Amino acid sequence: MKNSIITQLQQALNTTKILTGEALKERYTHIWRMDEPLNALAVILPKTTEEVAAALKICHANNQPVVVHGGLTNLVGSTEMTDGQEVVISMEKMNSILEVDDQSRTMTVQAGVILENVQNAATEKNLLFPLNYGAKGSAQIGGAISTNAGGLRVFRYGMTRNLVLGIEAVLADGTIISSLKKIIKDNSGYDIKQLFIGSEGTLGVVTKAVLKLVEAPKSRNSAWIGLMDYSKVVQLLKFMDSGLAGTLSSFELFWKATFIGMTTPPSPLKATLPYDYPYYVLLESLGGDQAQDQIQLETLLAEALEKEIIADAAIAYTVSDLEWFWKIREDMSIIIGQCQNGQNYDVSLPIPAIGKYVAETVEKLWKIPVVNRVYPLGHVADGNIHFSIGKSEQSEALIKQINDTIYAPLTDLGGSVSAEHGIGLDKKAYLSLCRTPAEIQLMKTLKMAMDPKGIMNRGKVLS
Ligand SMILES: Cc1cc2nc3c(=O)[nH]c(=O)nc-3n(C[C@H](O)[C@H](O)[C@H](O)COP(=O)(O)OP(=O)(O)OC[C@H]3O[C@@H](n4cnc5c(N)ncnc54)[C@H](O)[C@@H]3O)c2cc1C
Repeated sequence: MKNSIITQLQQALNTTKILTGEALKERYTHIWRMDEPLNALAVILPKTTEEVAAALKICHANNQPVVVHGGLTNLVGSTEMTDGQEVVISMEKMNSILEVDDQSRTMTVQAGVILENVQNAATEKNLLFPLNYGAKGSAQIGGAISTNAGGLRVFRYGMTRNLVLGIEAVLADGTIISSLKKIIKDNSGYDIKQLFIGSEGTLGVVTKAVLKLVEAPKSRNSAWIGLMDYSKVVQLLKFMDSGLAGTLSSFELFWKATFIGMTTPPSPLKATLPYDYPYYVLLESLGGDQAQDQIQLETLLAEALEKEIIADAAIAYTVSDLEWFWKIREDMSIIIGQCQNGQNYDVSLPIPAIGKYVAETVEKLWKIPVVNRVYPLGHVADGNIHFSIGKSEQSEALIKQINDTIYAPLTDLGGSVSAEHGIGLDKKAYLSLCRTPAEIQLMKTLKMAMDPKGIMNRGKVLS
């Protein structure tokens, strides 16, 4: 049966596009675990949408489970195999930028294009694709779409869902759904593309997308800021957003332990401010005039200092300052690498509730004897907080204990167990903490309608 599927796939595609046997040992399920060989039936490397469709048609007819692989940077186990008998469709060879249209301000791409290449192609035309996060050098645009990735500039430009105008996708049975329009407004019935955005490869394979670009900003200014309590962080967000009148693009929060962890050895990066403050904010404004915008930022920070909203600030005055300031934020491997038996989280909750929730959660985590690292940080302007937690031992019971500590308060706070990374395998058991039974049932109804045999990323997101 399995040999017959491989033969059918080889006949429909081309033997060079299908890896089996020994060749699978070179493959893996995540960029952080390249030393663990992939346990799958086969890997397909399509170059066209038609090849994806042909492969899925065969898998559908044979009730063959399929896992889609993008850049393998997700943080929720969504590219793992569940029984080792899946066929992997890997999108890496669908990596063409088909068009950059500077008049419509759109880019049409195949799904396997690396996010950083999208950003660079936009920059070449004096445009900006605002989606930005630490994994940009490996994550593919199809993966970003399938996880509805957020990142560092959501506050101003929205999540991936706000940056996609059109999508082409292939359903489980091989049907191609193509809507690659360059239009912003389209109320002609249901917005089908949104179903594929954030559904983690469970409803179909995204093969192409039309991305929305914006005019490139002419200025970029940044500052690190020290603050004495969480209420001042909320006050500063409102103060800067109002004062910068629309140019505030990032507002990232770090608890003191995290700032220290990011800027002391083994980190190669030096601190931007003394370790005197419980909270540190890194902010960015993107505007139209470098000199004027810098003066505006300095003036606002001086006012915030005078009003005692902030305790200290360091402004980036050069390009190398900017690189240094943002390297601290973007190189998450610095703190994740310090977290042995690590667990990573991306919860969201209303902004005013974050200070108390994090303080109480950190206290509970430190009471777990084997916990030796607790690093909270986050896209606080989006109500999104990350935790990286390290511990000296590993067991299923410990993983659950830490999950429960982080997730349990979120229901009453009106939060979510996933702000941006998705559910995958890791958070499936916790979906009901932030979604009602009726919502989960509707998700299952949609899944059944679009993938009746349940072959797409079987066992991920929904039970
Ligand atoms: C250092 C680091 C920093 C990160 N920072 C952020 C951050 O700030 N914000 C944020 O939102 N995320 C962040 N992430 C996680 C983020 O979700 C992923 O980096 C990215 O969006 C996934 O893209 P990928 O190509 O690696 O997809 P993969 O990991 O390969 O896949 C992710 C999911 O999408 C599916 N998939 C992939 N491609 C397709 C396709 N073409 N069609 C259908 N399904 C597909 C897969 O089956 C899987 O379910 C970070 C990750 C790392 C490692």
